[in-house]
Amino acid sequence: MSNEPLESIKDIQELSSRKIAVLLVDDQRIVAEGVRRMLEPEQDIEFYYCGDPSNAIKMAIENDISIILQDLVMPDVDGFTLLRFYRANVNTKDIPVIVLSSREDPKIKSDAFNNGANDYLVKLPDKIELIARIRAHSRSYMARMERDAAFYALREMQKQLEETNKKLEKLSHQDGLTGLANRRSFDEALERECKRAHRDGHELSLLMIDIDHFKLYNDTYGHQAGDDCIKYVANVLSDTANRPADVAARYGGEEFSVILPSTPIEGAKTVAEKIRASVEEANIEHTASPDYDQVTISVGIASLTPDDGICAKDLISMSDKALYCSKEQGRNRVSSNR
Ligand code: GH3
Ligand code: MG
Ligand code: MG
Repeated sequence: MSNEPLESIKDIQELSSRKIAVLLVDDQRIVAEGVRRMLEPEQDIEFYYCGDPSNAIKMAIENDISIILQDLVMPDVDGFTLLRFYRANVNTKDIPVIVLSSREDPKIKSDAFNNGANDYLVKLPDKIELIARIRAHSRSYMARMERDAAFYALREMQKQLEETNKKLEKLSHQDGLTGLANRRSFDEALERECKRAHRDGHELSLLMIDIDHFKLYNDTYGHQAGDDCIKYVANVLSDTANRPADVAARYGGEEFSVILPSTPIEGAKTVAEKIRASVEEANIEHTASPDYDQVTISVGIASLTPDDGICAKDLISMSDKALYCSKEQGRNRVSSNR
């Protein structure tokens, strides 16, 4: 070998600080001694010897071997079979193998390469040539392993980033206290559903819901109890408006809204009444309430029919007006624009 490849092998060597781990699989101790002596002075090479071929794969895995020197003729198992075993095992399939043969025979050489050998040398090889080939094969193997590990780490990081982004995206659409859609998400959903209703010729209903005398509830039972009450009402909404397209949102403070796509006003009234009755049935004490001695809600409903030109803003103000009617008429009731 000329000096030039040896120089470039040295360059490759500098790329990685890991030592080259050589495993010699050969039943003859004398060969092992010869190879050991050749490799001993090399600081970047660690030498392992396996005299029992049935242990070869185990030793290769345990010692993180980066290159195998493989004898072909051994008492129990022939080297060709062992080559196929290396290639079939997920942990050893890419480890480079230099066959150390006792003969320079084209047929044996060809069989060795066909069974998965990467190189072929006749025993005992020239020291410089053996070391150069060990370095060339194992360095490119280790570089490939490092590249695969880097790719894998990159893919994992990308996956984690995507998951974090998804979580953030979800959080940015959720109300922190109740887990319902937040105001921003509600605005987007209502725009979308209004357009869809007009386009597809469906009716769309909107419920505006407000807890009655909630300021007094907070003043009487404290802010924490107030929050629990808000969460309770939120659960009632998501349990009741449970079609996949329904959107229950916290509109702000103790006000909620529910978008009911493909739902005419009669259906919306049924849903609203169910929600109102569920809160009433919960019988949450509210002794300060001037109207009832329990927590109640008022609901306003507005619906649009296809082609009536009603937009999201109109629907909100109509349902707000209906809610105001419920409040005016004594609270704990459902009113609608039609
Ligand atoms: P009405 O029956 O007319 O709706 O009377 P109200 O007292 O419920 O209405 P008002 O709008 O005067 O008061 C709403 C109160 O809701 C104000 C505040 O004390 C309470 N509130 C708003 N947001 C929250 C919240 O996130 N947590 C708690 N605990 N209370 C809230
Ligand atoms: Mg209120
Ligand atoms: Mg209010």
